[in-house]
Amino acid sequence: MRPAAYASYSKRMPAPPMLTVRKVAPERGARLTELQRPEPGPDELLLRVRRAGICGSDKHLYLWDGWAAANFPTPVTLGHEIVGEVAELGPQVTDFQRGDLVAVESHLFDGACRPCRTGRAHVCENLRILGIDVSGGFADYVAVPRRVAWRVPSGMPLEHAVLFEPLGNAVHAAMRYDVSGQPVAVYGCGPMGLMAIAVARSAGAYPIVATDVAPYRRALAETLGAHAALDAASPRLGDEIVDALGCRPTVSLEMSGNQQALTQALQTSENGGKLVFLGIPPEPVTIDLAEHFMFKGLEAYGVTGRLIWDTWYRTEAFLLRHGAELAPMLTHRFPLANFEDAMQTVLTGECGKVLIDMDAQP
Ligand SMILES: [Zn+2]
Repeated sequence: MRPAAYASYSKRMPAPPMLTVRKVAPERGARLTELQRPEPGPDELLLRVRRAGICGSDKHLYLWDGWAAANFPTPVTLGHEIVGEVAELGPQVTDFQRGDLVAVESHLFDGACRPCRTGRAHVCENLRILGIDVSGGFADYVAVPRRVAWRVPSGMPLEHAVLFEPLGNAVHAAMRYDVSGQPVAVYGCGPMGLMAIAVARSAGAYPIVATDVAPYRRALAETLGAHAALDAASPRLGDEIVDALGCRPTVSLEMSGNQQALTQALQTSENGGKLVFLGIPPEPVTIDLAEHFMFKGLEAYGVTGRLIWDTWYRTEAFLLRHGAELAPMLTHRFPLANFEDAMQTVLTGECGKVLIDMDAQP
């Protein structure tokens, strides 16, 4: 006899196919693919995606660098920075309704392991990441567990709501240490560095110096609140950072994943300073642990995702109060069908945050 679930499923009309951006094979690139619309599981929400952001990690996955190749399975639908509208609810979900707008915590924690049970679900031992380990939101629809849904406050623009996930990383990084009234250095002015500058400034950091190799991004850094933006390729960068701040940085945010920037951050830090690492190096990096870390008495913190849900409350407050200040960073938007153009824009580096706009026409 057929299981009951199969019988009820087979009676339903199949949903029309949907467009997705898939990593189909362990190689460079991504492919536009039509797939069956997913069904929400018992405790899941089916979201109609409205906006999605392209993340630095999507770039790694697209290029299939050493870090991506070593860590990620294929095939998978990409996309983990999303805001969507509830289209269907699993039978166990009672606290959402069709039409509700939700942002999604991309770290799918199990809620059962020791880190989860002690308030550290962002480093769940059985963590799966949306759009990396399980199919994500570069798609018309995506099914997500109810426990990772964050209700978007009414009236918040979609262009702000789509930033919850990436901005949350920057909030986590910039608020890990007390930056109020402290000299801060931000290495790397991609979207994550730019958002960290805005958050650090809102939290009272002064002065803030940013570094990047790209003049385009240095200009954005100043627009978003850096008091000085320096050329990361300068042979005198360390001295220039100290000149711009008037001292060594007390807090350093490494947002680039670049070996040279990482070494610079360690070397230039004030003795006893605090370092936050967020940028993902494409290959393993080396540091002079004794000279550049131990003997300087540094303290360091690695950011992965957001504190659940502490960072989300802070991120929401930042978006409500300062969301409009991020507008200069939202430089490009593309329809899903033009994903390849969107990724090529990301690869040029001449951009801030690149969004996929599901309402835009190809
Ligand atoms: Zn867990």
